[in-house]
Amino acid sequence: MPFLKNMNIKNNFIKNLEDIVGSKYVLTAKWSKETYSKGWRYGEGEALAVIKPETLVHLWRVLKMCIDNDMIIIMQAANTGLTGGSTPFGNDYDRPVIIINTMRINSIHLINNGKQIIGLSGSTLYDLEKKLDPIGRDPHSVIGSTSIGASIIGGVCNNSGGSLVQRGPAYTEFALYAKVNENGELKLINELDIDLGSEPEEILNNLQNSNYKESDITYSKKLASDDKYCQIIRGIDSNKPARFNADQRLMYNVSGSAGKIVVFAVRLDTYEKPKKSKVFYLGSNNPDDFWEIRRDILGKFKTLPTLGDYVHRDCYDAAKKYSKDTFVVIEKLGTSFLPTLFELKRSVDLISKKFSFLPDHFSDRLMQFLSNFWPNHLPKRMEKFRELYEHHWIIEMSDDGIEEARKYFDKFFKNKKAGYFECNDYEGKKAMLHRFVSASAIGRYYSLFKKDIGEMMSMDIAFPRNEKEWFEKLPKEIDDLMEMKLYYGHLFCHVQHQNYILKKGVDSEELKKKLLKIYDERGAEYPAEHNFGHEYHADQKTIDFYKKLDPTNTFNPGIGRTSKIKNWK
Ligand SMILES: Cc1cc2nc3c(=O)[nH]c(=O)nc-3n(C[C@H](O)[C@H](O)[C@H](O)COP(=O)(O)OP(=O)(O)OC[C@H]3O[C@@H](n4cnc5c(N)ncnc54)[C@H](O)[C@@H]3O)c2cc1C
Repeated sequence: MPFLKNMNIKNNFIKNLEDIVGSKYVLTAKWSKETYSKGWRYGEGEALAVIKPETLVHLWRVLKMCIDNDMIIIMQAANTGLTGGSTPFGNDYDRPVIIINTMRINSIHLINNGKQIIGLSGSTLYDLEKKLDPIGRDPHSVIGSTSIGASIIGGVCNNSGGSLVQRGPAYTEFALYAKVNENGELKLINELDIDLGSEPEEILNNLQNSNYKESDITYSKKLASDDKYCQIIRGIDSNKPARFNADQRLMYNVSGSAGKIVVFAVRLDTYEKPKKSKVFYLGSNNPDDFWEIRRDILGKFKTLPTLGDYVHRDCYDAAKKYSKDTFVVIEKLGTSFLPTLFELKRSVDLISKKFSFLPDHFSDRLMQFLSNFWPNHLPKRMEKFRELYEHHWIIEMSDDGIEEARKYFDKFFKNKKAGYFECNDYEGKKAMLHRFVSASAIGRYYSLFKKDIGEMMSMDIAFPRNEKEWFEKLPKEIDDLMEMKLYYGHLFCHVQHQNYILKKGVDSEELKKKLLKIYDERGAEYPAEHNFGHEYHADQKTIDFYKKLDPTNTFNPGIGRTSKIKNWK
């Protein structure tokens, strides 16, 4: 990474940033930047500094300072993105990189009696759920990473999908954001449709301090969520996937912007909480059973499921073993403890590096070791299904849909070598959490056994809505290259996460090309919901969208495997 050549200029620049946000929140030491410059599962790179502003105005001032000094800016929220889209990637940037982490700016405002919310840059989905619960409403989005602190805005920037069958990807046309125009000027754009004043700092201060009245808010036909998804997902005979990141229908300013502009706030719809909910746990050894159920529910049911996530037995087992500590921490201490846990983990790893007799990934090894002493955390009936069935499907129904599902499942499973049970609250919660933490199992396995295995690969694939062969059958010559395969996903949406550990020595890039070719032949789209990051090539329309948002290539350059050079040269 190019550093500022003149040390005086560099020191002045850092000093000016410290004056804005406080020296504690300008991280320049290598060890202190590590958490922010490394992706959850993919990608890492160097940054000159990590800045953690406390207010929207501080964020604005930091931005101005960075633009004046010709910096690259990578916006970051909870950094749970899985494709390297929220961290630097490599060290071949043509300008110094500044990471701005927004998690300190975390307010959520309720408007229109809670029917909509305004989420500031670092507000989280978890806090949104907590805030809406007492007024009987639900958020627009529930994703696997809600439980580990993912932000509202990271989700909108990624068009994140998640588990909710009725909602579709996170989407809004209401936002307050900044962009750098083709002349290199930073502009604040207020499309929240709330009268907050006219000057940038006035607007930002008024929003931060909730200094606006209901009469300042305009209600119009602009969308604060995807209003078409319910019809789309019911289209079971279509040869197009229901949702995927390159879907131009859902690229609108901040929505799908992948860090190519700076988002200060978004306005989103909320939903009335169902009066009652029920989780059904399904098991089968025949993928065709789930194909039939999927078609019947989406095609014939009056009420769409609230949620429906699939887990393969191998993934179930891997999560039971390698995600157990995460499960227990979230269950016992809550998601708010996770940042502290990751901080502790980082400190343990840093200290352990100083002692050559300690192994690498010491914290992972320690957590793994300690988790062995915790009793089995999964309910008995789930464990019984694990013995009986290879394929597991957790389906949540609400209100009238509960009886509809009950009657249907009773009939469907009568003469089948497959089964289902209705979870009690305890089982329902455990089943969902087990599914959500399953995403981290492969990472832990990889850290522990890195020396003896090949690379880790993660595929995020949206299959056509009419795909019958939803469960992957790889050609033998490809299958032979895999050490481990872990499958989970959102089965109603036909979004599958296919995670592989390769055998030692296998060329992952070559293999990836072969796999993507198979997906292309099957009419799939990828990425489905994790966004391009630095892992996937963006298509031309998406690149055009990025170029329009960021004509000087100042923000998150290289995303979608595009040019990292200033002005896209
Ligand atoms: C265990 C686990 C489970 C997951 N489950 C799901 C799932 O079910 N569905 C799903 O879709 N994804 C899932 N993900 C992926 C990830 O959590 C989502 O993409 C999430 O929405 C990212 O939120 P974040 O706050 O971590 O954003 P980050 O990763 O920090 O950022 C995401 C993107 O938004 C940009 N960004 C963030 N803040 C701003 C801002 N203020 N201004 C401009 N750009 C900004 C970043 O530059 C980046 O491009 C999962 C990840 C994990 C680790």
